Amino acid sequence: MAEVVVLVGHIADQVRKPSLELLTLARRFGTPVAVCAGAADAAVDTLARYGAARVHVIEAEGIEDHPLSWVQVLAGLAAETAPELVLLESSPDGREVAARLAVRLGSGVLTDAVDVRPGPSGPEVTQWAFGAAFTVTSRVTAGVPVVAVKPNAVAPSPEPAEPAVTRGSLRLDEASLRTRVVSRVARADTGRPQLTEAEIVVSGGRGLGGAENFALIERLADALGGAVGASRAAVDAGWYPHQYQVGQTGVTVSPQLYLAAGISGAIQHRAGMQTSKTIVAINKDKDAPIFELADYGVVGDLFQVIPQLLEEIARR
Ligand code: FAD
Repeated sequence: MAEVVVLVGHIADQVRKPSLELLTLARRFGTPVAVCAGAADAAVDTLARYGAARVHVIEAEGIEDHPLSWVQVLAGLAAETAPELVLLESSPDGREVAARLAVRLGSGVLTDAVDVRPGPSGPEVTQWAFGAAFTVTSRVTAGVPVVAVKPNAVAPSPEPAEPAVTRGSLRLDEASLRTRVVSRVARADTGRPQLTEAEIVVSGGRGLGGAENFALIERLADALGGAVGASRAAVDAGWYPHQYQVGQTGVTVSPQLYLAAGISGAIQHRAGMQTSKTIVAINKDKDAPIFELADYGVVGDLFQVIPQLLEEIARR
């Protein structure tokens, strides 16, 4: 069976959700081989639950400050096992590692993938272009394909396996790595899921009328277990921090449910959310462009609709 190498991200014993999505995608091709740094037993158990046939645990002091050292690890593994595919998360680090790995392997790289499927001549990769107005299907034609996949491309599904666990060590050669993380700034812990990974996103726009009214959006997000997003108009007005801006000049989200309240649905906002599985819009203007996109629309005042929604959620 073809092997697919998956670079796994985890925090202590918690495997990050995008990695579970990669394992789910890898199973379409054959046996997933998970590669991770110094994982605790609980993390290995999670990888087993999601079908990892082999788990390579790399022990290397300081590897978290040298994300590019994964290029060396993955290149070594690819040379040894000739996998059908290497999958990484399409995050800033993931894309950087993917590009350098492809150079090292003399192969091709595709980033920001939203789907990967077996095809007659190798893995076929789907990407979106121009704010998801176009869908592009591509294939790497030389060497081992290296593909960086966006979070939420697929719902992670378990399929238990009994992986062989191997532990290897790596001596980091700082001089040849050339880059090092010098500081990390933690985001304020809101207790909510990360915006780009959340299954539910509740976003507010100019229709909220002021920063203080974002509390209503936060209450709804908390009631649904989701993340909070904002339109650029709301961010530019200083009502919510820029890191939560959804759209062309913000982040791209693709949750199972996207709820837009007081957002008109400008093309630049759509670019960041139009691939959400289900879109719900609350807007008092029945002609707002967001309704062209929404699966469910509520024409009404968000200050009346959201409290009713909260009441209903609390009742269930
Ligand atoms: P508006 O367009 O003003 O819409 C507010 C909506 O709220 C209206 O539809 C109104 O009917 C409704 N409303 C008002 N009161 C209520 C109420 N009480 N109850 C219910 N509904 C109500 N925008 C982004 O969002 N993200 C981006 O990344 C982004 N990037 C951009 C990049 C460029 C280069 C440019 C030029 C623009 C960009 N924009 C972006 C801005 C974008 O064009 C829009 O201006 C912006 O999305 C509008 O935000 P909004 O929908 O919150 O505000």
